[in-house]
Amino acid sequence: MRSLIVGRFQPFHNGHAKLINEISKTSDELIVVIGSAQYSYTLENPFTAGERVAMITAALKGSKFKEFYVIPIEDVDSNQIWVSHLEAMVPKFGRVYANNPLVKVLFREKGYEVKTTKLFNRDEESGTNIRRLMIDGGNWKKLVPETVASVINSIKGDERLRQLSEKDE
Ligand code: NAP
Repeated sequence: MRSLIVGRFQPFHNGHAKLINEISKTSDELIVVIGSAQYSYTLENPFTAGERVAMITAALKGSKFKEFYVIPIEDVDSNQIWVSHLEAMVPKFGRVYANNPLVKVLFREKGYEVKTTKLFNRDEESGTNIRRLMIDGGNWKKLVPETVASVINSIKGDERLRQLSEKDE
């Protein structure tokens, strides 16, 4: 079974890694779609699509998946055509893992089996919290896989966020 999971992954963290570990129990191939690929260098979306590909690829190398694909996809103006747009950019898949209500409706209406995924330990393991810790100089590294921390360090990602958060003089 080839499954698909979608998120912005700003950044990819331990919660996402646990979810992917769960999916590996019933799927042997995975497509990770990086949504909102066109955004970067903002407080909500600090990392480029390419940087997110590097993070997720590094994290998935240690996973149980024998095959995986990490594919960035830009948003489109019309929700109605988003799934078709995505289908044109990724290998065929049989099942979707999602939590976002809009994403679930869009895939279900196209006939896909959609499984709901919940992230746990959301006080700590959330993109919003991790980005805040990066700005405040907190310990964000313990909340992401070591391989992801290495990618973020190599691009000075936490420093980028701190600089983006500075107010105009
Ligand atoms: P998101 O914006 O990354 O996530 C929204 C919330 O769900 C965040 O709190 C996130 O936590 C959490 N989350 C992320 N992945 C999850 C998962 N697998 N299971 C449970 N919770 C999860 O992303 P999303 O809404 O899940 O992803 C949808 C992507 O598709 C977005 O990039 C969106 O723009 C795109 N999309 C585009 C269109 C269009 O172009 N018209 C239509 C639909 C969707 P963290 O921050 O901790 O990850």
